[in-house]
Amino acid sequence: MRGDLDSEQMRRFGREVADWIAAYLEEVGEKPVLPAVRPGELLARLPGSAPEQGEAMEEILEDFRRTVLPAVTHWNHPRFHGYFSISGSGPGILGEMLTAALNVNGMLWQTCPAATELELTVLGWLRQWLGLPEGFFGIIYDTASISTFHALACAREEADPDVRRLGHRLPMVLYVSEQAHSSVEKAAIALGIGQANVRKIPVDGEFRMRAEVLEEAIRKDAAAGLKPFCVVATVGTTSTTSIDPLPAIAGICREHGLWLHVDAAYGGAAAVAEEYRYVLDGVELADSIVVNPHKWLFTPIDLSAFYTRKPDTLRRAFSLVADYLRTDADAVAVNYMDYGLQLGRRFRSLKLWFVMRYFGREGVAAILRNHIRWAQDFASWVRETPTFEVVAPVPFSLVCFRYRGPDEENRKLLAAINAEGSTFLSHTILNGRFVLRMAVGNVRTTAADVRRTWDCVLSASRRLLPNRGR
Ligand code: PLP
Repeated sequence: MRGDLDSEQMRRFGREVADWIAAYLEEVGEKPVLPAVRPGELLARLPGSAPEQGEAMEEILEDFRRTVLPAVTHWNHPRFHGYFSISGSGPGILGEMLTAALNVNGMLWQTCPAATELELTVLGWLRQWLGLPEGFFGIIYDTASISTFHALACAREEADPDVRRLGHRLPMVLYVSEQAHSSVEKAAIALGIGQANVRKIPVDGEFRMRAEVLEEAIRKDAAAGLKPFCVVATVGTTSTTSIDPLPAIAGICREHGLWLHVDAAYGGAAAVAEEYRYVLDGVELADSIVVNPHKWLFTPIDLSAFYTRKPDTLRRAFSLVADYLRTDADAVAVNYMDYGLQLGRRFRSLKLWFVMRYFGREGVAAILRNHIRWAQDFASWVRETPTFEVVAPVPFSLVCFRYRGPDEENRKLLAAINAEGSTFLSHTILNGRFVLRMAVGNVRTTAADVRRTWDCVLSASRRLLPNRGR
């Protein structure tokens, strides 16, 4: 019978993997960002069934390098500028490795006191870094989508405390801007709110929710006998990173008794730098907020930080304790299983603890400032080039821009830039037009990387597109 790796093998392969990771992070910038594979190609190369007999670790590692790696998109590439650019920093990777080694399940305080108390601690630290009110209780979920799901469940619980027992009786209405992330609507689907009860409030010329239209919509729904119950405002929308007017929206929520959830999954991190704290102005009036350290705080995916001023509501919505999960510590300790859908929980706080201690607040702020400055530089190069235009304000480190031509040409341009391999951009649709997005967010990105990306854009446009008076 085959046992686990012995300690000698663990040392040997552990060193090999650590060496591989160090070399990978050093060289990833030389690789094409996107893998040159077609759909199904890796699938066809992998065996259809698992081995009957165990295989040698050397062979498994070799297959990782030879077979799996060529189909990997390099999110840790310093010129991965698509979607939101993220990074697993060195300290975060080391923390993640230790989490796997410990393999604890932090469902109860008793099942791993360190997991619970480190989570409370790092979320307290992050709350201070973000300038959130002291009373905000934090919990780590995997993603912002799941954090927002829990926020909506809280809002529903507040609006109808019988919903847990009896299910939905009143049609409840949720308000988001038309620029909100799709995860909000998905959560509404999953919670039985219904897509028809999600109002998408129009935005202004800078893609921010129009507070006066929100208020009008709430009044109209209430007058029609519906139950407005929650508003989700966004700090750093996915397409353009616009910032909804939190103070005005919070005032409306107060007046009408609605839960206010703030989706700051990406943009919230900027508040770590003192001069960008203003992006969260008004959050002290919110009921909950999500910020994703796995987006712009150099923490390996996944780690989403959710805070609420009403932890009792979260607990009322989700706590259901089976006899076999009761412990003597229940009266005096936090059992995180009571604050969410899942029972089992990874020791995610460890990697965030590593990241926060290694970089420190000043270190994080300095990197974020650079990212924002380099995005501003990129935007200024776009503005200086007559054939291109910047199509949305740049409050953070994302630039939305396009070639001054039809959508087809912009699509062609994006495909050519990405096919070249040295940089990766993504797209969105704004006011019905196809737009390119360039996000800076990786801890290893440099000013030279951002310049190289702009050079790629320019050379692809010169190669491909009509010369409209350049
Ligand atoms: N909210 C915003 C504003 C986002 O931009 C994203 C993803 O980019 C999400 C939520 C969803 O994040 P996650 O992948 O952590 O669910």
